[in-house]
Amino acid sequence: MPFSRRPKIAIFVAALFSAVPLLFPSIDFAKAQTAGAAQKPTRQSRSLRSAASDRRNQQIARLVQEIDARNIERSIHKLVSFGTRNTLSTQDDPNRGIGAARDWLFSEFSKVAESSGGRMIVEKQTFEQPKAARVPQPTMLTNIVATLKGSQPESSERMYVVSGHYDSMCTSPTDAKCDAPGANDDASGTAAVLEMARVMAKYKFDATIVFMAVPGEEQGLLGATDFAEQAKKNNLDIEAMFTNDIIGSSLGGNGIHDPHSVRVFSEGVPSNETPAEATTRRSVGGENDSAARQLARFIRETAAAYVPAMKVMMVYRRDRYGRGGDHIPFLERGYPAVRFTEPNENYQHQHQNVRVENGIRYGDLPEFDDFNYIANVARVNASSLAMLALAPARPKNVVVVTARLTNDTDLKWDANKETDLAGYEIVWRDTTSPVWTNSKTVGNVTSYTMKGLSKDNFFFGIRAVDKQGSKSPVSFPRPVR
Ligand SMILES: [Zn+2]
Repeated sequence: MPFSRRPKIAIFVAALFSAVPLLFPSIDFAKAQTAGAAQKPTRQSRSLRSAASDRRNQQIARLVQEIDARNIERSIHKLVSFGTRNTLSTQDDPNRGIGAARDWLFSEFSKVAESSGGRMIVEKQTFEQPKAARVPQPTMLTNIVATLKGSQPESSERMYVVSGHYDSMCTSPTDAKCDAPGANDDASGTAAVLEMARVMAKYKFDATIVFMAVPGEEQGLLGATDFAEQAKKNNLDIEAMFTNDIIGSSLGGNGIHDPHSVRVFSEGVPSNETPAEATTRRSVGGENDSAARQLARFIRETAAAYVPAMKVMMVYRRDRYGRGGDHIPFLERGYPAVRFTEPNENYQHQHQNVRVENGIRYGDLPEFDDFNYIANVARVNASSLAMLALAPARPKNVVVVTARLTNDTDLKWDANKETDLAGYEIVWRDTTSPVWTNSKTVGNVTSYTMKGLSKDNFFFGIRAVDKQGSKSPVSFPRPVR
């Protein structure tokens, strides 16, 4: 029952802030979606859905539509045409190897940048990777980085990164000669990022968006690690990072065809949590409330509004079981990051020499990709990136003040600095709920008391809202006496 926990404090709030608060009905996209998909919609779920579409940002709705599966298909065929994109493969052959892929990507992103009116800068960021487990000799690696500068002075230093890895491998990660088409792993992610850049370069955003294609993933997340490490050294304010890796197929090795789901993996306990933070977490909870987890919830809500054909399946795990991806070096350095991956993988089509064995076709070939599916995953990405870069920053220094023992919850946070800020929303949920179920608009204030809702029984968070209604991800508070 979505309306069950509306607080009875309207009069108190109005008196306190001399503004009539908008008491939003609690929004539960999960229930609305499930109701819409699986059974006859109830009166409530239908009204929640139309309310959500009324608040849609037209710029986001437009750019989602402009993403074109045919461009993604062309890019994947081109990337596959380089034969192999193994990180150790040749760098000076114009037609084969990772060097050819690097130069083609640089030229494609550069073409895209022409439509940005000088706001998008494309760079080759090259570094020498020393010998490592899967790097037998020092090797030059090049990240292709297209930065679309934000247009709002208060927000242009705030950055969102979306990436795919353009390297590929056959059965052996150090075989630089074998054919490694990598159509799914990860031409799919790379092509999706290029298409997002093409569409989004024409639009203005408050904050900065970085579209990136990196090598060295199969060699140990090397390109992403170098970027994240440089970002940390230079104190870059990366507020979110998405890696798109294996987003190519809607048909799994288990025979399940599911073109309407994408998995979003998010860690619960931060990879960079300090011992002191762990002590606090054990005392107040928060195992499911890292910044990465808030990002996953944000993606799920945004996709429900802008890409209703797709269901975001949140997986409460850093990555697939025991496996890794390019978001991890970001998480390890304190940057919120998530991984997008197709719902059911087919292991005969990844990290395999191209061959037929006992009638089974092995290899990561373009014919196993579903280009319309990839376009829909790109739309899920693009809608969230756009919302992130249009919305205010997530509130900073959010705390639950524990100075008094009370059945209320006292919240405090720092004021945002954006000039188009409208105010804040407090969200909350049962401790056992996977998603935020309730929200309340509290105006442009920096503290608020949730009367009659105890921090013992609920989790709370704060998000910032601008005058167009664009909302930041939720910030989860820490306790302060
Ligand atoms: Zn991959």
